[in-house]
Amino acid sequence: MLDFLGDLKRTHMCGTLGASDAGKNAVLMGWVNKRRDHGSLLFIDLRDRAGITQVVVNADRNAAIHEKAETLRNEYVIAAIGTVKLRDANTVNPNMPTGEVELVADDIRILNESKLPPFLPSDTALTNEETRLKYRYIDLRRDVMQFNIETRHNVAKAIRDYLSSQGFYEIETPFMTRSTPEGARDYLVPSRVHPGSFYALPQSPQIFKQILMISGFDRYFQIARCFRDEDLRADRQPEFTQIDLEMTFPRQETVFKVVEGFLRAAFAAAGVELPAESFVQMTYDQAIQKYGIDKPDMRLPAMVDLTAHLTPELRETLKIDPTLPVYGFTIPKAGNLSGTARKALIKEIQTGFGECGLDFLDVARLRTNEAFVPLAEAIAAKLTAEQIVFCGENFTTDDLAVVVTPKPGTPAAWNYDKQWIPKRVGALRLELAKKFADKHGLFAQTGTAKDFRFLWVTDFPMYEWNEETKQWDAAHHPFTSPHEEDIKSGALWNDKGSVRALAYDVVLNGTELGSGSIRIHRKDVQSEIFRTLGMTDEEAHQRFGFFLDALEYGTPPHGGIALGLDRIVMILAGASSLREVIAFPKTAKAIDLMVDAPTPVSELQLRELNLRIAHRS
Ligand code: ASP
Repeated sequence: MLDFLGDLKRTHMCGTLGASDAGKNAVLMGWVNKRRDHGSLLFIDLRDRAGITQVVVNADRNAAIHEKAETLRNEYVIAAIGTVKLRDANTVNPNMPTGEVELVADDIRILNESKLPPFLPSDTALTNEETRLKYRYIDLRRDVMQFNIETRHNVAKAIRDYLSSQGFYEIETPFMTRSTPEGARDYLVPSRVHPGSFYALPQSPQIFKQILMISGFDRYFQIARCFRDEDLRADRQPEFTQIDLEMTFPRQETVFKVVEGFLRAAFAAAGVELPAESFVQMTYDQAIQKYGIDKPDMRLPAMVDLTAHLTPELRETLKIDPTLPVYGFTIPKAGNLSGTARKALIKEIQTGFGECGLDFLDVARLRTNEAFVPLAEAIAAKLTAEQIVFCGENFTTDDLAVVVTPKPGTPAAWNYDKQWIPKRVGALRLELAKKFADKHGLFAQTGTAKDFRFLWVTDFPMYEWNEETKQWDAAHHPFTSPHEEDIKSGALWNDKGSVRALAYDVVLNGTELGSGSIRIHRKDVQSEIFRTLGMTDEEAHQRFGFFLDALEYGTPPHGGIALGLDRIVMILAGASSLREVIAFPKTAKAIDLMVDAPTPVSELQLRELNLRIAHRS
């Protein structure tokens, strides 16, 4: 028989009682985390969001209550009414925040029972993820999940507070809208009232936030849900949350200052004090040259350009292409490899390159031939110099030197991507850094600000060559402003590959946290950009006519950015996947296992929407 709650009121949370509460009457409510029987004494670990308190039921004090407590099972919901008592010195539990006290129960009310759950919140071994997601309400009761969701709340609140203090208004934009230009597939919502027409769920609030600037709101933000029907990778979600913001009359630096401010506030909310200095900045070209990637992981030494050290004569004898660049890098503390291990590594790298024309230049072997000693030394000196820049006095000499050379004959990809070689070397740098992580220890989390290496990457290319469609696409989105000089120089038409955008990314430890740009605010420039992307004026009008119209009614210069909230929380909570910081996530196959979505719908619903399912054979 279940008890009614009646007018019983909770007086304390389970995790908050301490020695100073001794002697007080208390009413606790929560879940039975564990029950232990010791003859006439019965102990219940009672759990709520705040933690656990031990409740003691003594048969000698109250036999009926003891009998009732014996019926309790894991995850029953109860109220325990009694007196807080200091524990005897030998029963104090220093591992529990409430370990100095216990609640001696005078009454127990069973508010609800629980079937035997498929797993318990207190289980130390994790059950498989499918079961966790199916029974998410139980999974979310686990300590770690409660911590992750609390961190998410604290981080979101810190960001809201910070942005509000900087004059940003939080403004909602619609979920049911039309296609936005982020370039992924849309999720569509059929309209019943307009048969054959569809709303699209927003891939981001991009156009709306720009229109809010045209509307004079000056500074907007939103913790906004975005929907993108992409092929899912392990760390993607079909719906995810962005901290989206836009401001009027900004320079890039204005946006950077705001983002650095809210990130500092967000990290502080999770207990990490970031240094007051501004984040490092580098251009996209510098990032590619130094790190071979547009989201450099600065926890590792940069690459070095060794091209100048490879003279035409050396290139000829060493079978290196006469003109193409040569890059090298070091993996700290990974140099002490046995001869066999070194050979195996070289083989692995060469196999990894495949037939693309790149090769590993063995610096250690160069040293064994007198003719190449000066080259080996010049390379070592350059790599060492970078190592010293990177780690100053902590510099060690047991690094693994990796130098990559292009064989004679231009590698195919080089013809259309002049960054292909540094990008390939950059990828190898990251691969090897992961492989030797135990040796260099640079990815270890120490729980301090040192773990977090932020930077801004600026001046992204405006256009991106699409080898499949043989067309230039907008690298960010088509509302991004090119540099003014590149508009004036005619490069929009003559040399698209060279056009730089006023676009920027904020990067943390090799992960892109967010992207943004200064926008186009002139109708003539916007129309021109659409044309350079191969859109006719009619097509542009059909897709973005309302926006082009709006640009004609006094649009101020504006710009903004969007950062992934899920990823920021994941990093701050030390979680291993985005699913760990989203209360109700979808699987890698875009399924919600708890509610079982998506599902077929009834014939009637389809008919109302004027839809018919065509089953492809
Ligand atoms: N809407 C863009 C995105 O989601 C961000 C921006 O340009 O502000 O990538």
